[in-house]
Amino acid sequence: MLSWLRPSAALLALAAALPSQGAEPQAGLVALHQACLDAGTDGVVLNVAAHPDDEASRTNAILRRKYGMRVVTAYTTFGDGGQNAVGKEIGPGLARLRVRETLRAAALSDVDVRWLGMNDFGFSKTLDETLAVWGADRLKDAMRKVVDEVDPDIVITNHDLVHGHGHHRATFWAITEVLKERAAKGAHVPPLYSRSSADEAQLTFDPGELDAARGETYARMAHRAWTQHVTQGPWGPHNPLQPGKEHWKVVYPEGVKSEEAADWRHWVRDRLTKEVGAETAQQFGALIGEPASERLVQQADKLLNALTIMSPYDADNIQRRRERYAALQRILLAAADVSIESWLEHEEVARGGEGKVFVVVHGFDKLKDVKVACRGVAAEQVKPTVRPQTTDVAAPPARVPGAPPPAPPKPPEPPKPVPGELVVAFAHQASGDTMLEDGPRPAWVTLDVSFTLDGVPIELHPRLWYTPVDPVEVEWDRDVVMVPRGQTVERIVSATVRSHRDAEFSEPVRLLTGNGVKAEAIPGRVSLSREHPEARLLVRAAIAADELPADATLRLEVAGQKAALRFAPVEVLVPPGLKVGLVRGPDDATERALADLGIAYTALDRDALATSKLEEFTTLLLDIRAYNHRPELAENRDRILQFCRSGGRVVAMYHKSSEWNERAGHPLLAPFPLTVGDVRATEEQAPVAMLQPEHRLWHHPHAITQHDFDGWVQERGLHFPTKWDSAWTPLLELKDSSDEKPSQGALLYTQYGRGDFVYCSLVLYRQLRQGHQGAARILVNLLAR
Ligand SMILES: [Zn+2]
Repeated sequence: MLSWLRPSAALLALAAALPSQGAEPQAGLVALHQACLDAGTDGVVLNVAAHPDDEASRTNAILRRKYGMRVVTAYTTFGDGGQNAVGKEIGPGLARLRVRETLRAAALSDVDVRWLGMNDFGFSKTLDETLAVWGADRLKDAMRKVVDEVDPDIVITNHDLVHGHGHHRATFWAITEVLKERAAKGAHVPPLYSRSSADEAQLTFDPGELDAARGETYARMAHRAWTQHVTQGPWGPHNPLQPGKEHWKVVYPEGVKSEEAADWRHWVRDRLTKEVGAETAQQFGALIGEPASERLVQQADKLLNALTIMSPYDADNIQRRRERYAALQRILLAAADVSIESWLEHEEVARGGEGKVFVVVHGFDKLKDVKVACRGVAAEQVKPTVRPQTTDVAAPPARVPGAPPPAPPKPPEPPKPVPGELVVAFAHQASGDTMLEDGPRPAWVTLDVSFTLDGVPIELHPRLWYTPVDPVEVEWDRDVVMVPRGQTVERIVSATVRSHRDAEFSEPVRLLTGNGVKAEAIPGRVSLSREHPEARLLVRAAIAADELPADATLRLEVAGQKAALRFAPVEVLVPPGLKVGLVRGPDDATERALADLGIAYTALDRDALATSKLEEFTTLLLDIRAYNHRPELAENRDRILQFCRSGGRVVAMYHKSSEWNERAGHPLLAPFPLTVGDVRATEEQAPVAMLQPEHRLWHHPHAITQHDFDGWVQERGLHFPTKWDSAWTPLLELKDSSDEKPSQGALLYTQYGRGDFVYCSLVLYRQLRQGHQGAARILVNLLAR
């Protein structure tokens, strides 16, 4: 059957990129169900979001999985200005992680992703500030490009113009402006749905509903995808008792009636009926949702043919036809138990180097003329692994006297390649937008697969995402080493060398030092291979702070790749006897500062917290988000407070509200009530007022002045406490230019017994990473009693 089907070459060339690296297989009943839904509509939803994790994952899950809509999420930024709940990466390193998290989430949700490429400069409180940084026109241009390309039937966004992050407001502003432009030109204007309260909702989805094919709720599926944004945690577990509802209203065009907004499907410009005729479309619609049947397959086949023979087709319809065509093909594949599984050997591919795609064609024996290629290069059969032959040398068989000698063992048959197991290499090419080639924008490679199934020619083009990297990466484990003035210190600093080359290499380590630095690399040579692609390199450096030139660096070179480590001489006094017990958080900037400044400290793990003699420390430091990183701090609350009562100082750095605030099983670590909220000072220049200028914290051992707050980066602080017991003394007042009133929660102090407790929400860690002298001086004052 079906052998009469001959799609035109032009149409085949446009066959869709199948979702790849996806969570769901392409064969089986679920795949068949989804393919039927996809073939039943060519509706497209665009979900615009400011940051990775701002997507409307639950509504997206319903639109994609229940209604077969194609969903595209567009992110304005890569999220580099955010925090990191699980590691020390911030800035570009964090952006790279968040891109991968987003691709994983998108694969689970089976949605496409676009990036607008704006710079995430950290939390912003206003639309104006964000537009000033991004450029209103630049933002609008990027948004217009996405809207034109995706050509959505409806647009949804969690954002609006007046709430939350300035990046959220600007994202909302941009999509609205682009839709207004379209209206002015007389072009198609999709409605823009924005989040709404239950009272004002015009459209409500229920994510607690079970998906018919998968047997689990949309809420659970969405939660699984959303929690891929691991760096943006902590995420609680999915709670089936509270699936919640998704409320939406149309905010553009204005004045859309509730009945009209509630019936979201009427916005979808479906082409099927127009193209194949009402009767055929209806017959097909009646089959959707039926299990695999000859009728269904025949109908899909008939539609494929109908779409194929129509010519010419209008140009603005190409993408939709391509999607529909691919969905019809997927019906045939799923019904025949055929699936193309493909994956990359490595998630990273070296610029100038090669990546490798592996392919398994499941159901190979049902297919004819299977061709798999990548950028014009045909895939080869995977050479089977030859297992090493094991011979029993320990116990040779005993010779029976007079018996013929034993026949020599038969050489094993060489294993044969398995048909349908293929591999193909490809060279990295800058894909699409090269503007941010060195940025976190991921690259992709497309695989070209063609075959015939029951005489039906099928073409698939799975797209595989990867991160382009340098062939050899050399990276110091930090950017700056602080060196106290007046001292010559010895420090061991570390770097990582990573090879993405296939060939082994062994290269000397070159160090370039200037005045004031003597350095020696351990080891002096690195040897790397595919087996052992990464080496840790230690450098022992003797640094005379007062001899350092202004731009002192230690430069490291391996295999032509260079990395520079900066030295920052700082004027800092460390009082004798200061001894810190450190409870680590996810970030290590504060700990490195302790080491750089020569402050004696001991990192306390769970057991050490419970058993060590805390009285031997002058200060216990709970680093940023330590209570999230180490929830077992709850077990040690009494010990911590006892330490404080009997004369120790406890310093807690900032936490998110859910991490710090008291609840059952998660007691407050401070001696007096203190509730963390979400107040921030996001302007790095925000004026600072010291509220108790005579307070010892401002004077010992350093006299802190405004100068110590000059030249900060990104922000002053975040997650300030908003409620505190009168036992606490606020020491700092901060106000962003857009704030109506200042906030006083950034630095709180209280005495407790013979000791004292400091809660500090300043982002000292971001400043310490830059080698900021003022931040180092403030840190020492926080620690020193
Ligand atoms: Zn956001």
